[in-house]
Amino acid sequence: MRAAVMYGAGDVRVEQRPDPRIQQPTDAIVRVVLSCVCGSDLWPYAAMPATDQGRPMGHEFLGVVEETGSEVTGVRPGDVVVTPFTWADNTCDFCAKGLQISCRHGGRYGLDGVDGGQGEYVRVPQAQGTLVRLPVAEDSPLLPALLTLSDVLCTGHHGAVTAGVARGDTVTVIGDGAVGLSAVIAAKRLGAERIILMGRHRDRTDLGRDFGATDVVAERGEEGMARVRDLTGGDGTGKVIEAVGTRQAIDTAFGVAVDGGTVSRLGVPQYNEGPIGPGMLMRNLTLTGGAAPARAYIEELMPDILDGSIDPGRLFDRTIPLDRTPDGYRAMADRQALKVLIRI
Ligand SMILES: [Zn+2]
Repeated sequence: MRAAVMYGAGDVRVEQRPDPRIQQPTDAIVRVVLSCVCGSDLWPYAAMPATDQGRPMGHEFLGVVEETGSEVTGVRPGDVVVTPFTWADNTCDFCAKGLQISCRHGGRYGLDGVDGGQGEYVRVPQAQGTLVRLPVAEDSPLLPALLTLSDVLCTGHHGAVTAGVARGDTVTVIGDGAVGLSAVIAAKRLGAERIILMGRHRDRTDLGRDFGATDVVAERGEEGMARVRDLTGGDGTGKVIEAVGTRQAIDTAFGVAVDGGTVSRLGVPQYNEGPIGPGMLMRNLTLTGGAAPARAYIEELMPDILDGSIDPGRLFDRTIPLDRTPDGYRAMADRQALKVLIRI
């Protein structure tokens, strides 16, 4: 099969790899129909040291089940399925708490002999707990929107849920990337009345307005924080979702939170120290968020895609075939594309 492999910063290649086979009775083989490039793939694309081995890439995909191991029930060959961005048994104590990201028998795509999602086939471990059947055909126009259940939409939703977004709230979302815009969709869906989106790419913040943002703040740093405070009677907002991952973004998140407020962090942090000293203590701020247990949210969010209430498929602004995956990385790294869809 053909699949995308990263060999170092800026070096993604599509190459021939062994076809995956069932190894455990809990495995399934999925023929990938749609995959995509994640904002988090851009961090290794910017900084990964060169290796000879390479790392299979991609953790967001949907496709058709080709084959299942003897212990897999619930999904069958021919089913159209989506995967959350990590695999999990969905039965252990962490999974039972809705924290499938911490599954005791789970893991990540592209590591430990498991294929990445940017390829023709993937061996999915713990298939019964991981894969969710989609009630559509493999040529459904809803597939791009349903693919966002793999990661971005569930991640944005996780931000809104952990921030405690409820009906009537005012929320600040920091970042106009695919996760930030998904957080706007999620906050709106949970009833937020006012959503302030901080981002400086006009085409992206326009999409954010379509998704439910009521205000856009293009300024960054001190100026941006002052703008948000101006918009909120001087205080900032009680709920803040940080969807970038830089030190400046987390500083901004604390800066626009009202005392007693909650900051939910979704961006993969590119820093190891943050503003959690006496100032934060005195302000009674809560820091929450984290890597989303996407598997916990898929069934809840899917009906809203199927009935057209939300359309996260609009996040994809470029579609490429598998062989052009390296161009997809480049386009996203250069901010030429918001999110690149790979049609296998
Ligand atoms: Zn588990």
